[in-house]
Amino acid sequence: MTEAQGKRLDGIDLDVAIIGVGVGGLYALYCMREKLGLNVQAFDMASGVGGTWFWNRYPGCRVDTESTVYTYSFDLDMFQNWKWSERYARQSEVLDYMNAVADKHDLKRSINFNTRIDRAQWDDATERWVLATGTGETVRARYLIEAVGLLSSSYAPTFPDQDKFKGQVLVASKWPETNPDLSGKRVAVIGTGSTGIQIITELASKVGHLHVMQRTPQWVVPLGIGPFPQEARDRINLNPIAFRDWALNTGTVFGFVESTISALAVPAKERQERYEKAWQKGNGFSFMLETFADITVSPEANKTATDFIKAKLEAAVKDPKVAAMLTPTDYYARRPLAADGYYEVYNRPNVTLHDVKANPIERYTERGLIVGGEEVELDVIIMATGFDAVTGNYLKIDTIGKDGANLRDIWASGPRTFGGMTIAGFPNFFMVFGPFSPFTSQPLVHEWQVNYFTDLIEAAEKTNGIVDTEVTAQDQWVQICQDGLAGTLFQVTDSWINGANIPGKPRTSMWYMGGMANYMVEMNAIRDNNYRGFTVG
Ligand SMILES: Cc1cc2nc3c(=O)[nH]c(=O)nc-3n(C[C@H](O)[C@H](O)[C@H](O)COP(=O)(O)OP(=O)(O)OC[C@H]3O[C@@H](n4cnc5c(N)ncnc54)[C@H](O)[C@@H]3O)c2cc1C
Repeated sequence: MTEAQGKRLDGIDLDVAIIGVGVGGLYALYCMREKLGLNVQAFDMASGVGGTWFWNRYPGCRVDTESTVYTYSFDLDMFQNWKWSERYARQSEVLDYMNAVADKHDLKRSINFNTRIDRAQWDDATERWVLATGTGETVRARYLIEAVGLLSSSYAPTFPDQDKFKGQVLVASKWPETNPDLSGKRVAVIGTGSTGIQIITELASKVGHLHVMQRTPQWVVPLGIGPFPQEARDRINLNPIAFRDWALNTGTVFGFVESTISALAVPAKERQERYEKAWQKGNGFSFMLETFADITVSPEANKTATDFIKAKLEAAVKDPKVAAMLTPTDYYARRPLAADGYYEVYNRPNVTLHDVKANPIERYTERGLIVGGEEVELDVIIMATGFDAVTGNYLKIDTIGKDGANLRDIWASGPRTFGGMTIAGFPNFFMVFGPFSPFTSQPLVHEWQVNYFTDLIEAAEKTNGIVDTEVTAQDQWVQICQDGLAGTLFQVTDSWINGANIPGKPRTSMWYMGGMANYMVEMNAIRDNNYRGFTVG
């Protein structure tokens, strides 16, 4: 929608406003309009649907959740018949799927693209949220749903003298729609997280020279890219709802059942066999959680996994100095990374690994970057430096709740939510996969949460009620989540999971770590107890 069309929204009064039309926002739009029959408009600063899959068009971008569970289940026909070509769908395929869902259900007519929401303020007198767009329009709505994404607020550190650089700087999470031709070029990738390793493995054979700027070495296992497995298709088609519910009743909803066995409880030979089987199958979450139950909580168990990956790394990388640079010294306790042939990339004569912790990136020059005092000549620099995860986009919106309460103040030392979906003092306000949601793969969990608060809104609609959250219930939920992270190795390992990747961000839990199955038990008990902790007044 153009700005002129946007003007037509100025002053309109909606039942529901939705911010974001990624996986979460699109489904929320469907539920509000088609299930509840409410007058709803969605807003996204992107020019199309898809969220993550709209923005992240970088080379090698794909899901690392199996396509079987990276899907909606609400449209049973599409759940059964959408033909994913690969076990891990590429970005373009996920984006096609999202567009197909939006088109089939005619969702785009209720979406205002190219429209950023800068401010949201609750007006007690009219019991409305008053939204301000980036171009100054005002929209009023009784309910506000934020589906602004947990990995959506890009983080790209700056280095001095960028204006001097004659080449191109690209941010992976804002990749141009017209894919730049990088063949034969001297390319630097800054960052070796999930995005960095996908770009590195994809580009190594396609560019002239690849310089990898590594601050933190990573434990990386294979992903296991291949065709979409027929047995999964058969299983879904036999009973799609049973398949969906089976997936939801696991811990992380990644399409496997987490192990309950300690890595220390089995003989060394059996342990190696399990790790080898998981390595051959691929998938980071599976390697970390399907093999053994205590890799993320016990330093000794963790070491059995890192010893195995280290041996694979050392066997793959020919130059022992490079192998040593690639070997992490901390726990295997970040979001687990997976990419096929990652370590092997460093045997290529056109790939150079730079340790930018020891030899930091100092500044740009006309021809490239000064790294550890030496100039690296470059045509293209790719920032794969991650996200201000989980809370970033919520805090970018100036959000004011009841009695002038500012979300930025309330979350100054870390987020506070109830069930990852609501915030005390922010009436009729819902988040899809907000902070303190379960630590899982997302689409099926988004559906579950949206279904949950759709029921709540339906109940409120019947009584003309306003939904809010009790502070005590929220405090208890936050405590459960903080206790859940405490004692895990995720807590003591720097990563975006605990906020440590962003300078100055409070280091805290932002997740419900009890797994999706337990999350559903907790939230269903709340619902069955007359929505204990929520107020519908
Ligand atoms: C490269 C990459 C790979 C991933 N792979 C997986 C995976 O394999 N499995 C998995 O489960 N998850 C994965 N994720 C996480 C992924 O973000 C989620 O799976 C899912 O796509 C999130 O959907 P969402 O609707 O919550 O948010 P998003 O898809 O992030 O969409 C949020 C939307 O909100 C819009 N928005 C935000 N703020 C505003 C504002 N103020 N005004 C207007 N619009 C706004 C944004 O433009 C965006 O379009 C991956 C993430 C990335 C970045």
